[in-house]
Amino acid sequence: MPVPALAPYDDANIFARILRGEIPCRKVFEDDHALAFHDINPQAPVHVLVIPKGAYVSWADFSANAGDAEIAGFVRAVGQVARELGLEEPGYRLLANAGIHAHQEVPHLHVHIFGGTQMGAMLP
Ligand code: IMP
Repeated sequence: MPVPALAPYDDANIFARILRGEIPCRKVFEDDHALAFHDINPQAPVHVLVIPKGAYVSWADFSANAGDAEIAGFVRAVGQVARELGLEEPGYRLLANAGIHAHQEVPHLHVHIFGGTQMGAMLP
């Protein structure tokens, strides 16, 4: 069920549970600011999710409420994961869904990294 863009943070969401170690994930990267793991329902040969460790629902929530070190650390982590996955060439796609119009399903900010195939032009 998609979540409203301004939903309050729900501590029981699946990514919060992964961060707490309550359920497993196929981890590809972790540092102080971010955790990256394979999507359970991959939409491309490489489909990895990168999440901040803090409790943020969306980019709007994160950019308004996270500290500068958290924001910098998360953005760097996304780039590092893409590099470490070997996706720089021939390229990859980043996607962050927010709210009902974008079909955001999990109410913890996440960036999808898609790669490993030639993708189509992206239109809404
Ligand atoms: P959204 O539509 O941008 O919120 O995407 C949520 C993503 O989380 C979907 O691509 C799901 O396949 C993925 N997902 C849901 N539960 C899990 C899980 O337990 N592990 C890994 N990925 C998950």
